Amino acid sequence: MTDADAAKVLVIGAVNVDLVVTADRLPGPGETVVGPGVNSHGGGKGANAAVAAARAGAAVRYCGAVGDDEMGASALGELADEGIDVTEVARIGNVSTGAALIVVDPSGENQIAVGSGANGRVEPEHVREAVTRAADWGAGCVLISTEITPDAAVAAVRAAAEHGIPCVVNPAPVLDELFGVLSVPDILTPNSSELRDLYARTLPDAPRGPAEAEMATALARHLDVTVVVTLGADGVLVVDPTGVTSVPAGEVESVVDTTGAGDTFNGVVAASLAGGLDLVTATRRGAAAASLSVAHVGARTGMPTAEAIEHAAS
Ligand code: ADP
Repeated sequence: MTDADAAKVLVIGAVNVDLVVTADRLPGPGETVVGPGVNSHGGGKGANAAVAAARAGAAVRYCGAVGDDEMGASALGELADEGIDVTEVARIGNVSTGAALIVVDPSGENQIAVGSGANGRVEPEHVREAVTRAADWGAGCVLISTEITPDAAVAAVRAAAEHGIPCVVNPAPVLDELFGVLSVPDILTPNSSELRDLYARTLPDAPRGPAEAEMATALARHLDVTVVVTLGADGVLVVDPTGVTSVPAGEVESVVDTTGAGDTFNGVVAASLAGGLDLVTATRRGAAAASLSVAHVGARTGMPTAEAIEHAAS
């Protein structure tokens, strides 16, 4: 990166504790399956992206909420160990830290139930204040993912725009409330199913079922934003109202676990933009990093360092 020391990112989104059980098969309704393996680690799209940005070399502040419980302390401890500043995280009494219950079968297929807990209690005023402090800090990018209170996600988007901080929104999930502010951020980063959802709901009279590039172009023109669509093994499309640039995914010998691929992509793009890189270069770095990450089990295990990204993206 040209200016890695100066790259400062505020990430706003969810933090969870993931409880993962490996079993011979996934349970059906009302059924219990017993598997030998169980482990617990930090997750949540916001926290995962914060880790990816930090490993990519940025100074990262993470803003979200946990319960005043052991899961919250452990989730924040993992982020602090990555060098992430967690002082913007609210600790809320009488609510659990968010948790994901994940069952994985031998083919890698999974079943996930998420209890949003404290993530659903993030207050709009809290994120507004965090964005104001990030502006004073000199943040070069605000990354927002939307697994938090809808009003807080919307407030974060508006606050970043008010302070003139470049803003990337990962619309995962596509919240109803987001449709009022979709043209406010600089960059939207849906995956292909989120793109289809955004397209259908923003342009209800447009033709159904065109290719991703066409959907993203129509959306970018209608909203006057840049749309960066991740397409799994097919890489990424960078689409602004004037054209489409295709960025390939990295070559992966053996795909082991795609959990967190999008989070890795978003975190590295945000770190790269905050470091002064242009969007296509930032996207190349994000795609290279995300492809490195899918060769390892777990969302965060395979997230690469700045050096590994440099090597893979060159
Ligand atoms: P999400 O996790 O949000 O659904 P994607 O599945 O589109 O996001 O993946 C994000 C990025 O991760 C892709 O653009 C690509 O760079 C990388 N990636 C994901 N799956 C693969 C794969 N099977 N092979 C190589 N790279 C992958």
